[in-house]
Amino acid sequence: MGRIIQLVILTTLLLFSTFAAGQTAQPGAASAPAAQPIASQTGPAFDINAAVEAYLAKMPPARRAQSNAYFEGGYWLLLWDFLYSVIVMLLLLRMRWSAKMRDLAERLTRFRPLQTAIYWIQFIVVVSVLSFPLSLYEGYFREHKYGLLNQTFGPWMRDQLIGLGVGIVLGAILMVPLFGLVRKLGKNWWVWGSIVMIAFSAFVSLIAPVYIFPLFNKYTKLQDASIKDPILSMARANGIPARDVYEFDASRQSNRVSANVSGFAGTLRISLNDNLLKRCTLPEIETTMGHEMGHYVLNHAYKGLVMYGVVIVIGFAFLNWGIHYGLARWGEQWGVRGITDVAVLPWAVIVFSVYMFLMTPVTNTIERTMEYEADMYGLNAADQPDGEANVDMLLGEYRKLDPGPIEEFIFYDHPSGRTRITAAMRWKAEHPQSANEDEMKRPLFEGK
Ligand SMILES: [Zn+2]
Repeated sequence: MGRIIQLVILTTLLLFSTFAAGQTAQPGAASAPAAQPIASQTGPAFDINAAVEAYLAKMPPARRAQSNAYFEGGYWLLLWDFLYSVIVMLLLLRMRWSAKMRDLAERLTRFRPLQTAIYWIQFIVVVSVLSFPLSLYEGYFREHKYGLLNQTFGPWMRDQLIGLGVGIVLGAILMVPLFGLVRKLGKNWWVWGSIVMIAFSAFVSLIAPVYIFPLFNKYTKLQDASIKDPILSMARANGIPARDVYEFDASRQSNRVSANVSGFAGTLRISLNDNLLKRCTLPEIETTMGHEMGHYVLNHAYKGLVMYGVVIVIGFAFLNWGIHYGLARWGEQWGVRGITDVAVLPWAVIVFSVYMFLMTPVTNTIERTMEYEADMYGLNAADQPDGEANVDMLLGEYRKLDPGPIEEFIFYDHPSGRTRITAAMRWKAEHPQSANEDEMKRPLFEGK
């Protein structure tokens, strides 16, 4: 039975890649608009594929090449980040720095939860310092190179330090109960440990919009009535409490267009960034809000937690096995006494990183599937398929527009531009009255 499923999956993947080769091989994709003006494609003979190509062609080839290079570089960064972190953790273990940090914590207090917290503070500070060269390249120089960061070094560094402060506090909140469980429960710690981890994720989601995000950006209630009123109307129509629309000054960091649903239970809210407000038309803002409302109405915050919960439980079982495996072989060499010893943390990080690295396609698919659902919801709620296609193109500034299907499956946490625009044009084909000439003609990347 298992083999049959494997075969089916393999065959499907092969079919998809053949399909993709056909798609990307379409000639003249980059120079299509002159030959096929989007405006002429409405009506009964609407050609979905031609409309998709015409939208994709809105981005000049040089700009497209830059976006592809940026996004594909991100695939490699996944690997470099993983390997770099493994090297840092091995350094902490083999040089016995981890054991020394534990010894210091034990000298400072006899109270074990406090020992865990003191160890954690030393750990995260040392790891942040050792990882700084990679963070600096990845988060600062590389982003500037691609024109995606507005910050000078000072404000960027300030954000990093705030991030470290958040990491110190949140990490301590997670580590103290986790190591407490390991000491109390022995070999079954991972069952309750994974539940603590899931509860912790819900807790962070709950407090983030109120206590964490405002540390980095200013959040205000949306004021501009010409935008606010249609959004609130759509919100009411979709059964969403109207007070939940916020805007934030993302332009502090970059020109990226985005919006999100954040929070949990009582703090659940929809926020849109000032770049979206500045750079997009009302139909584009509406379709984006329709998408975010989709996350809200479809309860993605809760569904995501359940699906991630499964990933976490399996991950903790693997973590438990991996910790024992490593300790039996190298524990003495590292000066780590056992699983109840907080100095085991660098090894635990390695084991869990291996797992999460391998799970990348799974977690991405969990996210991407919900994003696609939100797109469908947004199209139906906002009735702006052309606005949707334009926003998808703007997102193409930092997300490769036209990947192969396997590439999309592995690396994409949102559907690609091609997938999203295809969905929008398919929707438009069934709703010809929703065609929007102004959106179709609107140039998106002039002077860039
Ligand atoms: Zn989304």
